[in-house]
Amino acid sequence: MRIGIPTELKNHEYRVGLTPSSVAELTALGHEVWVESQAGAAIGFADTDYRAAGAHIATDAAVLYETAELIVKVKEPLAEERARLRPHHTLFTYLHLAPDRMQTDDLLASGATCIAYETVSDAQGRLPLLAPMSEVAGRMAIQAGAHCLEKAQGGRGVLLGGVPGVPAGKVVILGGGVVGSQAVAMAVGLGADVTVLDRSLDALRRLDAQYGNRIATLHATRAAVYEQVLAADLVIGAVLVPGAAAPRLISAAMVARMKPGAVLVDVAIDQGGCAETSRPTTHAEPTFVVDGVVHYCVANMPGAVARTSTLALNNATLPFVVALAEKGVRGALEDDLHLRNGLNVARGQLTCASVAEAHGLPY
Ligand code: NAD
Repeated sequence: MRIGIPTELKNHEYRVGLTPSSVAELTALGHEVWVESQAGAAIGFADTDYRAAGAHIATDAAVLYETAELIVKVKEPLAEERARLRPHHTLFTYLHLAPDRMQTDDLLASGATCIAYETVSDAQGRLPLLAPMSEVAGRMAIQAGAHCLEKAQGGRGVLLGGVPGVPAGKVVILGGGVVGSQAVAMAVGLGADVTVLDRSLDALRRLDAQYGNRIATLHATRAAVYEQVLAADLVIGAVLVPGAAAPRLISAAMVARMKPGAVLVDVAIDQGGCAETSRPTTHAEPTFVVDGVVHYCVANMPGAVARTSTLALNNATLPFVVALAEKGVRGALEDDLHLRNGLNVARGQLTCASVAEAHGLPY
C-alpha cells in the first residue's frame, strides 16, 4: 500500500503521524511510504532518518496526497487538508467530529474513508489510542504542578518532596484512571504525600494493590473531596465520565477556601474542567490565578512534549497501520471490530452513532 505522512499544519503542532522506526516496519513489509519534507524535523526526525527507513520524501503536500492511499496524521485535518481528500483516500488520525460540523460536512463531501483514533476500542471497552496521550498528560500534570508551586509562578513556595526534617507537599488527585494513575506514579516518585479519590472502588483497589500505604485512597464523596481539596498544596483534576462534560467537583466557593498559593492542574479541561473556576489555557500562557489559587488548564498538554507524545502514539497506532496496509482497508475493518469502531465516515455516510447523533444526521 502507498502510505502518506503529511506535515501537521495546526498551529504549534509538532507531532508527526509515523516515526522513522514505524516507517521502517512498513517498508520492511514491502509498503511504499511517502513523508512530506520536514514533517518530523521539529522533533528531531530528519528527512535523512526517514530516507534511511526506506521512505520517499514528498516535496510538498500536493505530491503526497496525489500519491498516497492511506494518510496517517495526528490532528484533525484543517480545511486546506480536507480539500485534498478524495474517495480513494483513507484517513487515520484524531478527528473529534462530534463538536465540529464543518469538518464533518467536508469529510462527508470528500468521499474518503475516515477512521478516528479516539473511537477505536479494545477488548476491555477502553480507548487504546487515547490512552497514550492521557499517560503523557498524567505524568506532565505533576511536573507542571510542581513548577507552578514555585513562588515566582504565584505558588505557595512548596517543594513536593520536602527535605529531611520538612514535610512533603500534599498532592490530591481527583480520578484514578489513566491520567490519575500516571500522576500518582510521578508524585510518589517525587516523594510527595499523595491522596487519590475516585468513585470507582476498582480504580482505588488497583492503586492500593500497587502502592499499598505509600498513598491514601479515598472514595470520592462530596465531603471527602471538600476536605482534601482544602488541605492540598496541589490538586490534579483527572476525572472523566465518557461522552459527558467533566463532573464539577470543585465549586468557586471551595477555590476561595483553598490555601493561598495552592495549585490546581485541571487536566480534565478538555471536557470542560472539574472546577467551576477553570477555563482552557494554552502553552503560551498556561496559568491564571483565582482567589490566590494558580490554575493550570492547558487543553493539549501532550503537545508540549511532542517527541515523547509522537513515540507514545506510534506505539499504539502502528499495529493498526500495519493491519490496514497488510490486509487492505476493507479487510482490516472486516477482521477487527475494534478498528471498525474507529470508522467515522465512509463513502459520504456517517458510520459512528455518537457523531451522527451529535449532528442530527443519518447513520
Ligand atoms: P479515565 O476514564 O481513565 O479515568 C477517569 C476516572 O475518573 C475514572 O477512574 C472514573 O471512575 C473517575 N471519575 C468519574 N467521575 C468521578 C467523580 N465524580 N468523582 C471521582 N472520580 C470520578 O480517563 P483519563 O484517560 O484518565 O482522562 C481524564 C481526563 O483527562 C479526560 O477528560 C481526558 O479527556 C483528559 N485529558 C486531557 C488532556 C489534556 O491535554 N488536558 C490530555 C489527555 C487526557
